[in-house]
Amino acid sequence: MLIPEVHPPFPLSWGFSTRLDPPEALPVRRLNQVHRCGIVEASEAVVEGDGLWTASPGLRIGVRVADCVPVLLAGPLMNGTPWVAALHAGWRGATGHGDQESGGGILRRGVGCYCTLGGDPANLVWAFGPAILACHFEVGEEVIEAARQDSAWHDGLRVEGPSGRPHLDLHGFLRAQALDLGLNPTREGSVAICTVCRPDLLHSYRRGETTGRQWGWIEIG
Ligand SMILES: [Zn+2]
Repeated sequence: MLIPEVHPPFPLSWGFSTRLDPPEALPVRRLNQVHRCGIVEASEAVVEGDGLWTASPGLRIGVRVADCVPVLLAGPLMNGTPWVAALHAGWRGATGHGDQESGGGILRRGVGCYCTLGGDPANLVWAFGPAILACHFEVGEEVIEAARQDSAWHDGLRVEGPSGRPHLDLHGFLRAQALDLGLNPTREGSVAICTVCRPDLLHSYRRGETTGRQWGWIEIG
């Protein structure tokens, strides 16, 4: 288990699983929701999705990913109540591409949800987990174009690959959004390990694995 290296604001369990973790160390898989950029409150029946939050202690929520970025957020609401979220951010989720109602990608929506509930973005601790990093994330120009629509885009996020096709720095793109949203850079605990580079540790869809996934999960308490 890879644990974000940042001090949480309240008692918290969280982590990014690897292929070395036994199944019993992972959240129970109950339902696979595909909301693309939707953020929903978790319940006893729904503990897995593309964007979940909870303020309930002891409810472990998570996202399962192979190359996409698992995003974990934790912060107090206005009255001090702990709030946590787990988000699944591939390039579609990160950009909000194809989701007309979303008004931005899943990180923007997740932080927006926290603000709506009375949270201050500067109080969030945040971590991006292992994912396909810029070294391996070759994409089409349409992906770059989708990312370019975000107000936090800068050209340093497009890396020229060895084949001449572009690579997208998805962690960097999400980080640019996070800072744009007012998250505190000293409260970031991301684990920047590339899923394609580390077959000994991580599952990768891009590398040809169709079933293996790792969890990004979080639980208050
Ligand atoms: Zn790599």
